[in-house]
Amino acid sequence: MSSVAPLVSLLRHGFIPGSDRIVDRYGRTFTYLRVSVTDLCNLRCVYCMPDEGMKWLPRDEILSFEEIVTVVEAAAAVGVYKIRLTGGEPLVRSDIAALTGMVARVPGITDLALTTNGTRLAELAIPLALAGLKRINISLDTMDPTKFKAIARRHELSEVLEGIRAAQNAGLNPIKINMVVLGGLNDAEVADFASMTLDQDLDVRFIEYMPLEEAKGCAMGSGNFSFVSNELTKQRIAARFGTLEPLETGDTMKGPAEVFRLKNAAGRLGFISAMSAPFCQKCDRLRLTATGEIRSCLLDGGGIPIKQMLRNGGTRADIIAAFRESADIKPEVHKDWANIPAASMSQIGG
Ligand code: SAM
Ligand code: SF4
Repeated sequence: MSSVAPLVSLLRHGFIPGSDRIVDRYGRTFTYLRVSVTDLCNLRCVYCMPDEGMKWLPRDEILSFEEIVTVVEAAAAVGVYKIRLTGGEPLVRSDIAALTGMVARVPGITDLALTTNGTRLAELAIPLALAGLKRINISLDTMDPTKFKAIARRHELSEVLEGIRAAQNAGLNPIKINMVVLGGLNDAEVADFASMTLDQDLDVRFIEYMPLEEAKGCAMGSGNFSFVSNELTKQRIAARFGTLEPLETGDTMKGPAEVFRLKNAAGRLGFISAMSAPFCQKCDRLRLTATGEIRSCLLDGGGIPIKQMLRNGGTRADIIAAFRESADIKPEVHKDWANIPAASMSQIGG
C-alpha cells in the first residue's frame, strides 16, 4: 500500500484495511475467512452426508447476502484479505453470482475463491468469473461414472467434467481439483488423477479423509471405505511417474497443502494431510457458518453466534469483538478425533 493509500481508504471506507489484526494466544494472525453460504447440497458424498434423511435448516436461519457482506467488511477491516465461499454446495444458493460480486467489491478483499462440487459450474462459471471470482476448487473423487454414483450418490460425473471445462474456458485460475482418497473406492485412481497435471495447468489435491461425526455414521460405520494416508498416495503416484519434485509454494499455493510436481508437468500436486500431519500451527482461518456462527477451528472450540446481533443492529465493532472472542478460544491444536463434536463438513462449511 502506498503512503497515502491508508488515508484514502480511511476517508472513502471508514477504515484502514488490516490496521488492527486478529491474533490468537499462540501468535497466529487471521487473514482468511471461509464463508459457508448454505447447508444445502445436491450430492450426498459418502464421507460427508447420509444418503437419506438430511435435515436442512429453515431459510430464515441462514444469513442473507447483506448479512454475509457486513461480516466480510468487518473481517477486511481487521486484515482478512482472502475469502472462500463454500457450503454445503455454494452453487445451489440462488443468485450465488450476485453474492460473489458483492464480496468481490469489499475493499481489502484481494483474493476471492470458491469450493464447489462442480455440478452447476457449466452454467455458472462465466457469471462467477464476471462477478469477480478468480480461483476455484472443484471436488472430484473419481473418473469412473459408476463409482461417481457410488460416492456422490446424486447427479452424473459428466456434469462435473463439463463444469471443469467451463471453469477453464471462463479463465478461472488456479483451478484445483480436490480428491478425497477413499481406500477400496477410489484409491486405485490416484495416479490417473496425478496424470491430469502432466499437460494441464491444474492443481490436483489429495485429501485425507477426516472422520467427522456425521461422516463416521454414514460411511465408515457401514464399512464403505478405509483410510488412506497421503504417504501411501505419494508412493503410488511415484511408482508410476518417478520421484515427485517438491515445489517452493508462492502466495497462490500458500496453505495446508504440501506441493509437488511430476517431471515436466504443467500442473502441480497438493497433499492435504489433516490426519497424518495436522497443520494447526499455521492455520490462519476464521469461518462463518451458514447460520452465522464465527469459528476459529473446524473441529474444536465452538462457535460464537452473531446472527441475532446482526439482526438487532450490531455494529462493525461488535462483529470484530466476536472475531476476537473466537480467536481467543482457538486451541493450539484441535482435540483428538475421539472427542471431536458431532458435525459434518457440510454443516460447518468445508
Ligand atoms: N460442496 C462443496 C464441495 O464438495 O466441494 C463444498 C463444501 S465440501 C464440505 C468442501 C470440501 O470438503 C470438499 O472438497 C469435500 O471433498 C471435503 N470433505 C467433506 N467431508 C470430508 C471429510 N470427512 N474428510 C475430508 N474431506 C471432506
Ligand atoms: Fe455436498 Fe460437498 Fe458434502 Fe459432497 S462434500 S455432500 S458435494 S457438501
